[in-house]
Amino acid sequence: MKECIFCKIANGYLKTDFIFEDENFVVFKDLNPQAPVHLLLVPKQHIVSINDVDDENKKFLANSFVTIKHVSQKLGFDKTGYRTVINTGKDSGQEVQHIHFHILAGRKLGWPPG
Ligand code: 5GP
Ligand code: ZN
Repeated sequence: MKECIFCKIANGYLKTDFIFEDENFVVFKDLNPQAPVHLLLVPKQHIVSINDVDDENKKFLANSFVTIKHVSQKLGFDKTGYRTVINTGKDSGQEVQHIHFHILAGRKLGWPPG
């Protein structure tokens, strides 16, 4: 996906500091943080949204939970708590059409979200 910003970041075509990287995922800071910690977990493979999860990509996407757990322990917010969010489609306000987890931590997070 030539014009996809997260494909470019995740595959090393735009210089970005990664908090975590393996063969499937990268984790980096959100450009416009909504909490003291606001990270994005992005797969290297271009998948638009949860609507595009299938029998093939579900195998590695399931590992995103292990990666989130690992990063939360590495940065220490596993103890204080955090929120993970995936926006999907128009009503959610999904801006970037490449599936990603938001990982938010470092303050009390309100509920329900806006
Ligand atoms: P969405 O609304 O699609 O769920 O979230 C997209 C997120 O990506 C937003 O929080 C936005 O700040 C972040 N973002 C968009 N472009 C960039 C970028 O080039 N670099 C980084 N680090 N974050 C980005
Ligand atoms: Zn992409």
